[in-house]
Amino acid sequence: NRMADAVAERENELRAARKMAEEALSRANTANQAKTDFLASMSHEIRTPLNGIIGYTERLLEETLPPRQHRYAELIQVSASALLTVANDVLDFSSIEAGQIKLQLEPFSIVSLVDNTVSIVSSGAETKGVPIQIDMDRNLPAILLGDEARLRQILLNLLNNAVKFTREGHITARVEHKGRSEAGEVVRISVIDTGIGIPLEKQGRLFKRFSQVDPSIRREFGGTGLGLAISRHLVELMGGQIGVESHEGKGSVFWIEIAMPQADAPSIRPSRADA
Ligand code: ADP
Repeated sequence: NRMADAVAERENELRAARKMAEEALSRANTANQAKTDFLASMSHEIRTPLNGIIGYTERLLEETLPPRQHRYAELIQVSASALLTVANDVLDFSSIEAGQIKLQLEPFSIVSLVDNTVSIVSSGAETKGVPIQIDMDRNLPAILLGDEARLRQILLNLLNNAVKFTREGHITARVEHKGRSEAGEVVRISVIDTGIGIPLEKQGRLFKRFSQVDPSIRREFGGTGLGLAISRHLVELMGGQIGVESHEGKGSVFWIEIAMPQADAPSIRPSRADA
């Protein structure tokens, strides 16, 4: 019966190994949770004083200041806003990991959304010498139902990246109406740049957290490597898709495609006469 003993012993070893692996996994999960909680509370603690800095800098900029002091106040504002973006990204990312992000659907105009989001980034882009042009389909649905703030966040991320990774040329924000699906009007927004591009073998990982194509780029341009991971998650929450087409040294196209119901369609917002 030596055979049976050997089998039993082997099974015991296997059971012990499995138990150890489970314990290690559970410790790793606890540690991961602790890290996420820590990041969330850290970024929350950072945001509050930061909003104070930004608010008072804005007040300062409304005063008549000597030019040099005005310039310093502007620089404080730029740095504080950059820091706020990082804190918000980390906070969003922790909420995503905890499954806490919920969409807020409201009627909104896609045309105004793209117009005013581009204008947020435009002046910085123009200063850098890479102007942003808008190219919108004429037949876009007027009022859609979606989470405008989250869409703006995604678009801002794509536009800021395009500006960041483009040294010369221009950027195009293109909005197309791709027809209708069961979920609503299909809208595709593409941010097209003439920047440094991304090698094919790196494109697959881009939408994963902390992924940056080139570590030296991190030193040159900063960034957390969270933006695209957050954008992908938000787009997927919206039932849409995000993707990239890129050629190294030529430029990139980052696109999102989302179906949203028309908010003025009778089935969603009955008018008084229908009610
Ligand atoms: P971050 O910009 O904070 O590093 P993202 O998740 O937004 O984080 O982007 C991840 C990486 O993808 C960037 O670090 C960069 O390497 C690459 N990337 C994103 N957008 C572009 C672009 N338009 N052109 C070239 N590379 C890009």
